[in-house]
Amino acid sequence: MCYADTDTHADGTATAFCYCGWSGDYATPTAADTAATNHERDTEEIDAAIVADAIAANG
Ligand SMILES: [Zn+2]
Repeated sequence: MCYADTDTHADGTATAFCYCGWSGDYATPTAADTAATNHERDTEEIDAAIVADAIAANG
């Protein structure tokens, strides 16, 4: 599971980033925060899919 964070810049833009290596630049801190939240949710779904596949493979 990912934990994304954001960094607001002096020019008003913001970067969202995560320890997994994902990052993105956004026009506003709000957009970056939304992207960070979406990233955490998306990676949770991926983790759940991997677990479901493993359960299916192992019977
Ligand atoms: Zn991540």
